[in-house]
Amino acid sequence: MKTALFLLLSGSALLAGLAYALRGHTSPGAACEIPSPPTIPLEASMEFKVVKTDAEWKAFLTPEQYRVMRQGGTERPFTGAYNDNHREGVYLCPGCGTPLFASSTKYDHGSGWPSFTAPIDPKNLLLLEDPSYGMHRTEVRCAVCGAHLGHLFDDGPAPSGLHYCINSASLEFKPADPATAVAGRTLETAAFAAGCFWGVQSRFDAIPGVVETTVGYSGGAAEHPSYKQVCSDATGHAETVQVEYDPARITYAQLLDAFFKMHDPTTRDRQGPDVGSQYRSAVFYHSEEQKREAEAKIAELEKAGTFKRSIVTQVLPAGPFWPAEEYHQKYYQKRGGSCAL
Ligand SMILES: [Zn+2]
Repeated sequence: MKTALFLLLSGSALLAGLAYALRGHTSPGAACEIPSPPTIPLEASMEFKVVKTDAEWKAFLTPEQYRVMRQGGTERPFTGAYNDNHREGVYLCPGCGTPLFASSTKYDHGSGWPSFTAPIDPKNLLLLEDPSYGMHRTEVRCAVCGAHLGHLFDDGPAPSGLHYCINSASLEFKPADPATAVAGRTLETAAFAAGCFWGVQSRFDAIPGVVETTVGYSGGAAEHPSYKQVCSDATGHAETVQVEYDPARITYAQLLDAFFKMHDPTTRDRQGPDVGSQYRSAVFYHSEEQKREAEAKIAELEKAGTFKRSIVTQVLPAGPFWPAEEYHQKYYQKRGGSCAL
């Protein structure tokens, strides 16, 4: 354990960290403050799929997430939200929603940070040599948005011996059982239609704070519609994604932002190659507050000239929501692939 601590802590942080460890991790105090390492600039040649300006990252992340993920900081040991998290689920990148680690590979290394033996997909991680503080370490970053996650060591359990030592601040936990995650918290419901619901669902699923999603049919008159009936364009229903979200982690306004970014709200009864009223753009509001926010967002986007044409998104009260057949649920998650909305 001392070896791991020595590798993990650096510079003046080393003494503070050791003092902290020797004191039995009882009370984080001033002596345990680990100063942030200097900013680690991203190499100019690196291109990431998710790109934001520094100001946008600052607004998008919490101050601690920004310090760790965008400035290469390290959270104090034994203080992160997930060091002692033993629930089943998946850890995502808070910056871009990419799945990074599964709870099945998490183990207790004793060093005070969440530790994993393997990533979900090595392609989702970027490994870089980190020579800072005179040590030769391997830095781990998110390959999609470039966020600093932590370091990779070779003092993990057999057989691989790999030890991904990751900051809690660089992780967003998505539990396998949403009910356990939100015990004591009230979830809210939102519903959106933005074209083919397979792709819309996968996009909402990737947003931290979205706890559950269901694809279905809404906005029409037919009861218990089938996919075949809805595809005939005769039921009046739109392919809809119902979203259960934790308002303590994401606001309705942020969901609206994501909704308007993921599709073209200016094409009536159509998204790309998909034509028909079942592919129309609509917000189904569950409260007067949601209605007000949706209308305000549309007015704001129109005023800003975000789209070349007028927004045709309908803002309608949420009527009955008919969940789609099971084989449509989490379609891309089950089969892989994606679609361009
Ligand atoms: Zn990321």
